[in-house]
Amino acid sequence: SESRLHLADALRAGWRVLSADGSALDAVQAAVVVLEDSPHFNAGHGAALNEASEHELDASIMDGASLAAGAVCAVRRIRNPVIAARAVLDRAQAVLLAGTAADDFAERQGLAMVQPDYFTTQRRVEALRVVQARMASGIAQQSSEAEKHGTVGAVARDIHGHLAAATSTGGFNNKPSGRVGDGPIIGAGTYAKDGACAVSCTGQGEIFIRRVAAYGL
Ligand code: ASP
Repeated sequence: SESRLHLADALRAGWRVLSADGSALDAVQAAVVVLEDSPHFNAGHGAALNEASEHELDASIMDGASLAAGAVCAVRRIRNPVIAARAVLDRAQAVLLAGTAADDFAERQGLAMVQPDYFTTQRRVEALRVVQARMASGIAQQSSEAEKHGTVGAVARDIHGHLAAATSTGGFNNKPSGRVGDGPIIGAGTYAKDGACAVSCTGQGEIFIRRVAAYGL
């Protein structure tokens, strides 16, 4: 399937960085960008829609060598949220920037900006319709496996032994407006520390936040 081809592209993008003596940090960013650009994953183009039929995207990245980290949450206009997370790591006086201020930061940093409907795919519109119809008719039924997955992440170890991790997500279909998941929370959805491990989580974010999953694993 095309989603598998895009996964292979993501691996190649990361590998290209690593095999040219690049950093683990650059490698995980390169891999996640490919998956954000693919319509088949719940990140960037193809991300889940919230209850208001809007996209609010979360992403983070962490350098296991320095424990530096950057993240954005509830952003709406940044084409590649993981690149914005990296810009926060490199250039913001913050670890996590939220909402319109994060969008504005990315724009000032010269990142590619898009209209919110760039992220929308027919599959996500249909998924939201199905979930909302189900709730309206009181059928509390589980989402299909296909609809529950799709958050993207990458971990890498470079030639110097340094680790990095990155995560990017649209959250889940019909999530509450303003809901922020584990993806942009360092220690919950993403963590990397040299000599220990690099982690990017996918699954019900609220549980990962409460259990500090990426750190506590
Ligand atoms: N962990 C993501 C979130 O809660 C969703 C997912 O991985 O499916 O935002």
